[in-house]
Amino acid sequence: MKPIDFFPRFNTLTKNDLKVDFHLHSTWTDGKNTVEEIIQTAKEYGLHSIAITDHIREESTYFEAYKKEIDRLNSESDMNIYVGFEAKISDFVGNIDVKKEEAEAADIAVVSVHRYPLGNRLYTASEFTKNIAQEIEFELSIAALKGGGFNVLGHPGGMSLTHFKEFPLDFYEEIITECIKNEIAFDLNGRYHQHQIDILYPLLQKHNPFVAIGTDSHNINRMGRWNKDLQEYI
Ligand SMILES: [Zn+2]
Ligand SMILES: [Zn+2]
Repeated sequence: MKPIDFFPRFNTLTKNDLKVDFHLHSTWTDGKNTVEEIIQTAKEYGLHSIAITDHIREESTYFEAYKKEIDRLNSESDMNIYVGFEAKISDFVGNIDVKKEEAEAADIAVVSVHRYPLGNRLYTASEFTKNIAQEIEFELSIAALKGGGFNVLGHPGGMSLTHFKEFPLDFYEEIITECIKNEIAFDLNGRYHQHQIDILYPLLQKHNPFVAIGTDSHNINRMGRWNKDLQEYI
């Protein structure tokens, strides 16, 4: 795993730091495009570094072949192409759904709240009222941050934002504080945070966490825009 200082701090972001995408999905899982197509698109947008962060689970068996392909494409390219994954937060004590050795072998280990694990079932945020959904997402995020074992918290607030369009300021603030405390980067993510930047910007400026810029693109048509949008803010 890349050490935390691999990521830039929010207040010292340069235009060059924005020419990256550290949250991307390919045909290895549910993305529409191959890693090669993603690399080609990243090149067209002038990015210098990307991470392929396909969905992984503890029982996934594809990681070795996946890493091999990305390493090969990286060696053939003048861009930096990092091996990553996105795993889900499994419970309220901070377990994450990925093999330890695979987390160690990846450069960019994104861990995100997806469905909510309660009892024997997984629930979507929309099955709860807004306040409860936000609280569950917050608790899961904090548990994962305290547990560690990864270097990027994926799309903080994302499930609440998807279903309720908002995530409380104090939850954002505590998540950012825990990111810093536990040396984990905050995934500033175009898919989820494009309408949150006015809320997030003052908090990120105040606490100055390490940030991973990503788009969570599952299709190359979604790439590029966020990198341009962010330029206006730095
Ligand atoms: Zn996700
Ligand atoms: Zn994702």
